[in-house]
Amino acid sequence: MASYETEHAADAPQSNQTRRPDMSSLYSLISEITPERPEQRTRQHAVPVPGDVSAAFRGLAEAFQVMQRDNENADSDLLQELISNLLSTAERPPTEVKGVDEEYIAKLERVNIKKVKKDAECPICGNEFSEDLYPLLVRLPCHETHVFDLECIRPWLLLNGTCPLDRVDLAKKERERKQKQLEEIKKNAAPEDEEEEWDGLYG
Ligand SMILES: [Zn+2]
Ligand SMILES: [Zn+2]
Repeated sequence: MASYETEHAADAPQSNQTRRPDMSSLYSLISEITPERPEQRTRQHAVPVPGDVSAAFRGLAEAFQVMQRDNENADSDLLQELISNLLSTAERPPTEVKGVDEEYIAKLERVNIKKVKKDAECPICGNEFSEDLYPLLVRLPCHETHVFDLECIRPWLLLNGTCPLDRVDLAKKERERKQKQLEEIKKNAAPEDEEEEWDGLYG
């Protein structure tokens, strides 16, 4: 009987069409430079090294270029634009990476493959979602039609935090939401101030 590994190795050529470049080393680099989880960095409390930031942006550009080269569906102007964008950021790396964190990615709305049009495709890799053996789709909160393969949009969002289609700055919105939440908590934790206000009203 074939083992799990050999079975899957035998499957590999058929799933070539939707195969994406291996991004595991890119993800560990991204976790080094994103500001949200400083405790996960090996160099704790350090501002990200500009060279690391450059390498991450260049790494994703290269992964997208591999996609562009090996996948005939990945010939969109959008993908080309994302690559140019990543390369120019790599040239002039920002001091802080303003993407979203993994927690945000984990909370993105998952979309059932049965709920999208039969021929709907991922705007990044150009593959039809239905061609994927194990489709894992997410919808961005900016627009109901902005649906992507999770693994295509994840690295982009971690680094840039924007929707590639309409450039809505999701990371900024999330930072604002968290800030507001923090202010709410502070407000609720200071009942004395509120009492004074009430006294003023009825006094
Ligand atoms: Zn995709
Ligand atoms: Zn969008």
